[in-house]
Amino acid sequence: MTEPDTDATPALEPNGYDDRGEDFAFTPEELVDWVEGLVAMLESVDRSQNQYWCSQWWNHPEAVDRFRGLYEQWLEAQANGGMSSWWIDHYDRHATVLFAKRGPFGECGTTHADKTARRILSTEHPPLDWAW
Ligand SMILES: [Zn+2]
Repeated sequence: MTEPDTDATPALEPNGYDDRGEDFAFTPEELVDWVEGLVAMLESVDRSQNQYWCSQWWNHPEAVDRFRGLYEQWLEAQANGGMSSWWIDHYDRHATVLFAKRGPFGECGTTHADKTARRILSTEHPPLDWAW
């Protein structure tokens, strides 16, 4: 007989934090399901109120990144509580940009509009001696 493998149970992290807890990683498919469920229940986004949406939301990189962040926070709120804060501190703040005329969906109407004429912000790399 051999001794039980005592390494089978990982120890706490050096900082004492148990890192075996929840992991809020998710797949693209899970994000799609979540966004579809969220959008289906929204009553506060209305074109007549100058708010914009695109059925191909996944075709807008900024929107995808914002939804990823929202979903991550939503999962945490579901697990640990804090849905009111999620709506006020996360959803409301992102919704202000997401559904605005100048937001990612502002040029899309009933169909997705490719943003071939989109003005992309340019950047120039600083000189080698640049510092603050
Ligand atoms: Zn679009």
